[in-house]
Amino acid sequence: MSQKRVRQKQKNKSKGKIDSHKREGSKLISPFNQIPNAAYISWMNDRLPCMIWAALLMNTIGRDQAIETFRQIGLHVGKLFQEIENRNCSLPRVGIYGLSILDCDLQDKFFEVLFSDKRVVNALKPLILFKDLPLSKKWGEYLGEVPENEGEFWTNLADAVAILLDHQSQEATDCRWAYMIPIIYSGKLQLQTGEQYREYTEYPNYEDQRKVRPFIRATEMQFGGDTLDKDYSQGKKAWTEKFWNECKGNTECISPAPNKSSVDFDLMETVSLVRDIWNDLFDHFLKTDKFTHIQPKRDASFGFCFYALTVTQEGLASSGKLVTAKLALRMLAEIYITFNYLISVRDEKLWDIYRSYGSGQAKLTFLKLEEILENQPGYLKKENVEALANEDIYMDFQNISLGNWANIDLRKMSQVAGCKSIYDAYYAWPSSYVHGQWCAIRDVVFTTCHNPLHRLHRIPRLAPRYEDGAESDLILLFNKVLDLLNEVYPSFDKRAELVEKP
Ligand SMILES: [Zn+2]
Repeated sequence: MSQKRVRQKQKNKSKGKIDSHKREGSKLISPFNQIPNAAYISWMNDRLPCMIWAALLMNTIGRDQAIETFRQIGLHVGKLFQEIENRNCSLPRVGIYGLSILDCDLQDKFFEVLFSDKRVVNALKPLILFKDLPLSKKWGEYLGEVPENEGEFWTNLADAVAILLDHQSQEATDCRWAYMIPIIYSGKLQLQTGEQYREYTEYPNYEDQRKVRPFIRATEMQFGGDTLDKDYSQGKKAWTEKFWNECKGNTECISPAPNKSSVDFDLMETVSLVRDIWNDLFDHFLKTDKFTHIQPKRDASFGFCFYALTVTQEGLASSGKLVTAKLALRMLAEIYITFNYLISVRDEKLWDIYRSYGSGQAKLTFLKLEEILENQPGYLKKENVEALANEDIYMDFQNISLGNWANIDLRKMSQVAGCKSIYDAYYAWPSSYVHGQWCAIRDVVFTTCHNPLHRLHRIPRLAPRYEDGAESDLILLFNKVLDLLNEVYPSFDKRAELVEKP
């Protein structure tokens, strides 16, 4: 396939993903949430704690033998369930909570088959660490007292939880199958074909497992996440919450070591080259200057370049990796789009509007300093703002415009100027960092605790994350601003470049 077709295909693919969302006012509703009454069912939160016994077993006696034990439990408990009509329990559930509300004969059968292998006692010992373990008396009869070397058992438990955290992992699928197999043998789930029955009973040795595994997970989600049986689901929820609380209460958080951050380019040389362009711009300004009256288009065009240069060198000086480098990117994107828009519209008056809007803002700030702000902020010098406000015309004649200077937002400006891709690439995401939105904060200051018993929760990092280098993007955007200057005041050929480390 040609490069172009591959790109087109990728474009179509991503387009499809955004398009599959449904627009409702200012919201894009995800395809999953468009299904009416879709209940949020969580494997990790609500069902994993019930099948932890199966994972402990797999980790100790090995997958093959554990699966045979699960199959035997399924066969014996399922068949026994079938023998008696009008049972108190509705399904032969073998999750830790479900087991505790089974009829006694089924419980006895479960324990009898499970503990027929001597190694099982040692494997499942971590279960008695839980003070609120359902059916704890019965488990205790087989597993004994809480051991002295508790730490070792918490470690075993962490290893078992770790293999189940991903609900689609091989081990999680095995455990989800172990939950379902007694239900299959009990006849309470009528599979549609003989094939499906064999896929279950001969798991994992019959048929293509790439097809079988999703089928098992789908049925387990339906039965394990039963929200129609209120008593069962509430009782189970109470246990699973206690499970996670005890895990948290008894074990410590584990902070991953921070990745080493390094500057990947020759910072001094690059900033110095960028700084040199200031002089070239200065020379070019003087060379192309003919008049002394106010020239909004010229001043703005050169101003954009000098200002972009300032922002670029500051972004680079912070090694391109600090949060402020992302803010610099967003500023450069806005400068570029605004400049491009002003050129594209081809209306000389628009340059006047751009300039006069800025003067109006200076006037507004000055008036607020005079009349509203009692404590003058340190960074604002009233005389400076007053001079700016009065520069082009005496302030009293200056109108103040509110809202955006051009009465259209930056996104639309980028469309008019034909540079929406710059908006998408360099404005939207850095804006999250500017506004302190959740994902930006999560990215910079939080990490995921590496203790599996803590359900992948967020903990503060040991230091902020400074890993993504914005240096090449800063240079790219700055050069694009210079390209625009070259378009309106030719010819200016000087461009910035990133200098590699010696
Ligand atoms: Zn933790």
